[in-house]
Amino acid sequence: MKWEENVRRVTPYTPGEQPQKAGIIKLNTNENPYGPAPGVAEAIRELDAEKLRLYPAFPEKTDLVKALAEHYQIGTDQIFIGVGSDDVLSMIFLTFFQSDRPVFFPDITYSFYDVWADVYRIPYETKALDADFRIRPEDYRQPNGGVIFPNPNAPTGELISLDAVEEIVKNNRDVVVIVDEAYIDFGGISALPLIEKYDNLLVVQTFSKSRSMAGMRIGYAMGQPPLIRYLNDVKYSVNSFTMNMPALALSVEAVRDEAYFTDCCNKIMKTRERAEEELAKRGFVFPKSSANFIFASHKAVPAREIFEKLKEHDIYVRWWNKARIDNYLRITIGTDEQMEALYRALDQIV
Ligand SMILES: *Cc1c(COP(=O)(O)O)cnc(C)c1O
Repeated sequence: MKWEENVRRVTPYTPGEQPQKAGIIKLNTNENPYGPAPGVAEAIRELDAEKLRLYPAFPEKTDLVKALAEHYQIGTDQIFIGVGSDDVLSMIFLTFFQSDRPVFFPDITYSFYDVWADVYRIPYETKALDADFRIRPEDYRQPNGGVIFPNPNAPTGELISLDAVEEIVKNNRDVVVIVDEAYIDFGGISALPLIEKYDNLLVVQTFSKSRSMAGMRIGYAMGQPPLIRYLNDVKYSVNSFTMNMPALALSVEAVRDEAYFTDCCNKIMKTRERAEEELAKRGFVFPKSSANFIFASHKAVPAREIFEKLKEHDIYVRWWNKARIDNYLRITIGTDEQMEALYRALDQIV
């Protein structure tokens, strides 16, 4: 068809499967096995349908931004909110990566980065992780159009130190550096304090993992006010009101209940430690994880085979048919019960 010449063609990002079958054990998309803070359910019951006739408040005036500002002790003008951090990151690519020079990110990383670069026609160059799957800060010293990396990295789960993050930010003062902290709450140290010192740093976080609200779609970026203003200008030029009123109201409860949040993260970290022992016992090797998943390879059985056999046991993990990582499985940390079922299934498979 002739009109197809004028189509923006893209190879889309493929999220992990969301099987709708009952009773499966879902360890494939890094969702939190525990529900959101109890205050969220209460807030759902208190939602006032009448209020939906109005457009939501401007971002800075929302209770969500106020709650985040209080929680992190920063200004409301230092926070940008969006429909999941995917929306936030997409706006960041559109806003800050406008150079003819390539944007740098690791070769093994969140597989959305190259998709956004392609869809927005942004040149990019990947930097190979070392043999132990670690980011090498010295790779990010050549001239570039911007830098983005997750810390901990995904899907490897490896954390780099705050000093290493600062080294990357410091050596790239002429471009914007993005630290995607989707998994930082599972034992990592956030780069947030560095935003006061560096006007070119944005720290991105999400409610999808540690705050257990992937279905609500909430993410945010934190940085100095000029960065946030630029982001909002672009956002308002694409879609002014991205976040809906229920999401804005419910998310506040997840920020306020710090005890529940800490307890949830601690439980997951404890289960992760146990999982590392259990997987090692069964012949798996993996880099040390600082996230809510383990990126594991088996010494004898190919990852693809384990992936498929686990499915027969109704256990879903993530596997990519991609160079360098096709013999690895990314296994999300579930509840202790779910993990026990995984170990039992693995005993039959490996
Ligand atoms: C899960 C994830 C995100 C985005 O999740 P949202 O649900 O869109 O907030 C961003 N970056 C990384 C590395 C992730 O793993």
